[in-house]
Amino acid sequence: MQTPLHLTHLIGGEARPGVEGEMLPVHEPATGATYAFCPDGNEDDVDAAVRAAEAAFEGWSSLPNDARAQWLSRLADALEARLEDFAQAEARDAGKPLRLAREVEIPRAVANLRFFASAAVQFASESHHGQAGLNYTLRQPLGVVACISPWNLPLYLFTWKIAPALAAGNCVVAKPSEVTPVTAWMLGELAREIGFPPGVLNIVHGPGPEVGKALVEHPATKAVSFTGSTAVGRQIAAHCGPALKKVSLELGGKNPTLVFADAFEDASGRDRMLETIVRSAFQNSGQICLCGSRILVERSAYAAFRDAFVERARALRVGDPLDPSVDLGPLVSHAHRDKVLQCIAIARGEGGAVLCGGEAIRIEGRCENGWFVAPTVLDGLGPQCRSNIDEIFGPVVTLQPFDDEAHALALANATPYGLSASVWTQRLDRAHGLAARLRAGIVWINTWLMRDLRTPFGGVGQSGVGREGGFEAMRFFTEAKNVAVALPPPS
Ligand code: NAD
Repeated sequence: MQTPLHLTHLIGGEARPGVEGEMLPVHEPATGATYAFCPDGNEDDVDAAVRAAEAAFEGWSSLPNDARAQWLSRLADALEARLEDFAQAEARDAGKPLRLAREVEIPRAVANLRFFASAAVQFASESHHGQAGLNYTLRQPLGVVACISPWNLPLYLFTWKIAPALAAGNCVVAKPSEVTPVTAWMLGELAREIGFPPGVLNIVHGPGPEVGKALVEHPATKAVSFTGSTAVGRQIAAHCGPALKKVSLELGGKNPTLVFADAFEDASGRDRMLETIVRSAFQNSGQICLCGSRILVERSAYAAFRDAFVERARALRVGDPLDPSVDLGPLVSHAHRDKVLQCIAIARGEGGAVLCGGEAIRIEGRCENGWFVAPTVLDGLGPQCRSNIDEIFGPVVTLQPFDDEAHALALANATPYGLSASVWTQRLDRAHGLAARLRAGIVWINTWLMRDLRTPFGGVGQSGVGREGGFEAMRFFTEAKNVAVALPPPS
């Protein structure tokens, strides 16, 4: 058996154990075993990290933009050079298929760092000439900012936050999820190895209600960028409102996939469509905020779609995430596995038919104690059922038929969430008409999870407040200052 990893905070460029020296166990979801310990941080750790960030701010914010860009690029290069180690660690820590970590998530973390390195030098501000002399806008960094990320896409979402914050000239105190802290710790170690300026990036570990809360409430943090559950997002908003702190909240989703008969009847695109919808339902075991968990199908194609979809869902391979042939790994924790099973029990109680899955799976061998759930498809549940309203965040989807466009739209918009939606149709007028009327921050037409890092990312309603991505993120992490210059009156 390997010696468990002992993670440390990164504070002021140093690897530091927690102040009280206490550690939290980190479990491998595929086996249930403890394989690492992370600091069980507290408000003293947060305070030390914020002070280190404050001390570094003057130097970092006054660097030329291209110097900050170079530091982010160096970090990206160092991460890319260790891509395989990070992919292995992410697969182990979060239970995600190694293939997904290696081909998508860690490369995307590299891309996030590179993208915002380039944003640091491309970001520009406005000028307004004529109406009242010359006005120009300075976009200045805020100071010390808090970045709090969840467990489902650990390094991918961690870098999506810290990169724009650093590129814009802020110093960061970041908190990864205590459920999946390993790759953020490894990134901190890489930052130390390449000599990243001390105090500019600080990483504190520990439980959200202690460490996350202390970070949000620290009087010196000027803004909070949070991705996680709607319940915690609300608590953060409740603090940031009266404290007048900037806040960006990327929260839960209950995203609809709308399938029109014309798309299903088009034989040339049917396979690609089914393959994409299955992926949108079950990628990362459904633990992606953008997963399409409510599939709405035009009634004339309903039965044929349902049968083809269920056949594909049944064919998905669930097992050891380190096995390259596996499609779905375990759920991230014992508690989360139980929550998902409870949601399935509620669906049965509401009268839902379980077309496939519906239960925990035992995998023989190394993973016999892992937290696996079979891909589950539910039918016969109306829009008011909890299964169609609450975010389950597991490999569980519902199917509902619709009669026409208006009915499809009403079903799609029938939850308090509004993160993303996918529309599958051959008709351009319908696609664009629906895109405008769907209550969502992101609409995909005949695709899913097609991402361009320049585009605004975020949701409406209970899916959040604010936008990340491209210059939206750079604007969030800066304060706009108007400078007005008197010009001589026209002669
Ligand atoms: P969570 O809200 O439990 O935790 C998220 C982070 O917040 C963790 O680092 C946690 O330690 C911290 N935290 C917990 N309580 C806190 C508090 N009181 N104050 C400050 N920080 C606190 O969410 P999770 O279970 O880690 O992640 C799953 C959720 O994240 C799902 O709801 C999912 O939809 C959402 N999510 C949203 C997006 C998006 O972009 N909209 C992306 C990924 C995940």
